[in-house]
Amino acid sequence: MDVLVVGGGPAGRALASACSARGLVTSLVDPNPERPWRATYAAWADELPAGAPVAVSTSRSRVFAASEHRIARGYAVLDNERLRRLPDDVRVVRGLVAERGDGHVVLRDGQVLRAGVVVDASGASGRVAQHAVGVVVPAEQAAPFVGADEALVMDWRKPPAAGSPDPTFLYGIPVPGGGVLLEETSLARRPGLPVAELRLRLHARLAAHGIPLPRAEERVRVPLAARPRPGAFGAAAGMVHPATGYSVADALRLAPEVARAIADGVPVDRVVWPAGARAVHALRRFGLAAVLAMRPEEVPEFFDLFFHLPRNRQRDYLGNRSDLRGTAGAMSALFRSAGWGLRGRMALSVRSAKGVRTPG
Ligand SMILES: Cc1cc2nc3c(=O)[nH]c(=O)nc-3n(C[C@H](O)[C@H](O)[C@H](O)COP(=O)(O)OP(=O)(O)OC[C@H]3O[C@@H](n4cnc5c(N)ncnc54)[C@H](O)[C@@H]3O)c2cc1C
Repeated sequence: MDVLVVGGGPAGRALASACSARGLVTSLVDPNPERPWRATYAAWADELPAGAPVAVSTSRSRVFAASEHRIARGYAVLDNERLRRLPDDVRVVRGLVAERGDGHVVLRDGQVLRAGVVVDASGASGRVAQHAVGVVVPAEQAAPFVGADEALVMDWRKPPAAGSPDPTFLYGIPVPGGGVLLEETSLARRPGLPVAELRLRLHARLAAHGIPLPRAEERVRVPLAARPRPGAFGAAAGMVHPATGYSVADALRLAPEVARAIADGVPVDRVVWPAGARAVHALRRFGLAAVLAMRPEEVPEFFDLFFHLPRNRQRDYLGNRSDLRGTAGAMSALFRSAGWGLRGRMALSVRSAKGVRTPG
């Protein structure tokens, strides 16, 4: 076997597919390879590679921070079934990796799997996390929050009920089947905001518009500052954007490059974490530290400033993981536009970000 991918999430499957397309003999091991995903994966449409399996897309987006921002940028919800699909020649092994060694892994049942290259795509863990609770409602009921052909990226307006001052926002995206996923989200908190608090706020928002409560609930927990593991890919490699919690679009875009590196005998880390990406990640961690240090009322103010930046600056910060110049430019523009109180908080957070581990 040439490649063994540990973990069958979006990153592991994208990589296994790309390795197979390169002609590499590939296996993927996961404890529950047939279990359908319950998460709704989405991204800015222009961050996805051509051919990414999109289920629903919008042509525009909206943000409410201290003011309303209409953004002429499309958003895309991925089709989980197509995202999960693997080529027939990828061997799928059911199992939990208990030990990793050089060119082999040991499963919990004692089975040993050997491969020229083992890539860890088994996801992330960590205490600083983004949390959300969501429900899917029919599109017509969601109309007070999310318009047609639109994604509500963030709505920081306060919910009618809350048990704590922690800031949360409403996220709303159309999903397959004509519904809209409405999610109460806590961007970054250590430890995360309790699920009960998020649920209280979401239910209060729905009740204010007489929207009946659906039974099913989507729960989200995305570690934002996970310790990156060497020779890994996806969230396991620390590829999650520390400010947004996103990594799927990057994993889909990078998978073919990583597969090419494996075929050429180049270490995976060299492609996943080139110097530019490491530096950008360090800056993004600073952004995360700044958000964690802010007072509750400053967070919507911060996002208002962010969405007032020119669109290219916004894209540079949210998207391009290797563009150090663009990321630094976006962050300094944000800093310059902030008032003195917020600037002070951002500057102070540099100190707390200094101890944060960066990849590579
Ligand atoms: C509900 C929800 C919604 C989200 N929405 C978005 C979104 O819209 N956009 C976005 O970019 N991100 C989103 N995220 C963040 C998302 O978690 C990650 O971006 C994405 O799942 C990371 O993919 P991954 O394949 O790296 O890891 P994971 O999806 O965590 O997959 C890891 C896989 O490895 C397996 N595994 C774990 N340990 C072992 C082991 N020891 N042996 C073998 N297999 C193992 C797991 O079972 C799992 O299948 C969301 C997360 C959640 C929970």
